[in-house]
Amino acid sequence: MSHTIHDFRGKLLQPALRDHMRAYVDWRKALGTARKEGKPAPETPDLAPISINLDLTTACNYRCDHCIDWDILNSRHKHVEAELRRSVERMAGRGLKSVILIGGGEPTLYPGFAGFVEFLKGLRLQVAVVSNGGRGNRLLEAAEHLDEHDWIRLSLDSGSNDLFLAMHKPVDKKLDLDSICEWIPKIKERNPRVRVGFSYIIVWKGAERSGVEIHENIHEIVMATERAHRYGFDYISLKPFLERSPEGAEVMDPTHAQEELDAIVRRIRAEVDRAKCLATEKFDVYESTNLRVLEEGNWKDYTNQPRTCHMQALRQVLTPTGLYNCPAHRGEHKALIAGPQAYCDDDASRGTSEGLLKILDGFDASHECREVTCLYNGVNWWIEKMIEDPREDVDLPLADERLDYFL
Ligand code: SF4
Repeated sequence: MSHTIHDFRGKLLQPALRDHMRAYVDWRKALGTARKEGKPAPETPDLAPISINLDLTTACNYRCDHCIDWDILNSRHKHVEAELRRSVERMAGRGLKSVILIGGGEPTLYPGFAGFVEFLKGLRLQVAVVSNGGRGNRLLEAAEHLDEHDWIRLSLDSGSNDLFLAMHKPVDKKLDLDSICEWIPKIKERNPRVRVGFSYIIVWKGAERSGVEIHENIHEIVMATERAHRYGFDYISLKPFLERSPEGAEVMDPTHAQEELDAIVRRIRAEVDRAKCLATEKFDVYESTNLRVLEEGNWKDYTNQPRTCHMQALRQVLTPTGLYNCPAHRGEHKALIAGPQAYCDDDASRGTSEGLLKILDGFDASHECREVTCLYNGVNWWIEKMIEDPREDVDLPLADERLDYFL
């Protein structure tokens, strides 16, 4: 998994996804040709994204200083459940293959969370849950519906109770890192097939959000890894802290650090190496691509995007405030494709297709994402080249079917 999770090109060439890719590339090629020749534009194909991030709620029961979605939390916007279900059903009929229940709030706080997971599985979608772990009982209920291609990942970012409480500030004063981790053996007992991960965002001294300094946690990487192993998580994933740029995008910006970047990277490296020694056949220690590029010092290479971001058509973010083009821009007006009705009926779907065409034309990723260390950088350039290739039929070779449809 570590080597393939961000291999988006390999994922898009899986037999189950390749035709969807082909339809997108063919449409963009035909559109480019029609525009050059002054002919009428071909119809936008009736496709949904392959994968969505679905923010079920903006409510959150933590008050983390480092939260990337701080501005949209607890904003009282809500999905209309019937519309949301219809939207997802229609998407599933048009190529949607996976749903990540995630951010902008804590998904398990959504009323009827486990029932919603059951509904998604009834549509044969792959489902992932990114949670703060504060409602272990709801994760346990939802886990019953998941299978070996689904996963749950808890954002914990600490090895000790003290640092956990300082970083996350749960509203429920009885919660701590121990009580959250105690749910993992129960979840695994209820459903051993579902993978459960411990997510650790690495924060260095001087990292901040809107002027608020965030707790450093480099020194607890190993402690957290031992903990994750002890409680029966399948893996820990280590990734660097992201900030919101003044323009709203999520960016990796180690320039605020109070130590020299080299010194920070050396400290992180040493801790990650020690953590990696704790990996076993049943327990993995993953470094995120962002962490690798931070260490290699080449993160700027991932900020050079093509003008058109093609991932906007293949992976979208559905939230109670609307449908957005990318997790890095969720909640920003310029990234809005459509309202929260998204794909719920013919009219909404038509509006969404128009919104998508507009954003593919008008959202200049080479400018808007110029500070984002974008994990989709390589796949975007690959798609761009295929579309620009003058040959009518560019080669889209089939890759192995890995049954991994998360983008
Ligand atoms: S280029 Fe990257 S960061 Fe920008 S919208 Fe596309 S996927 Fe998101």
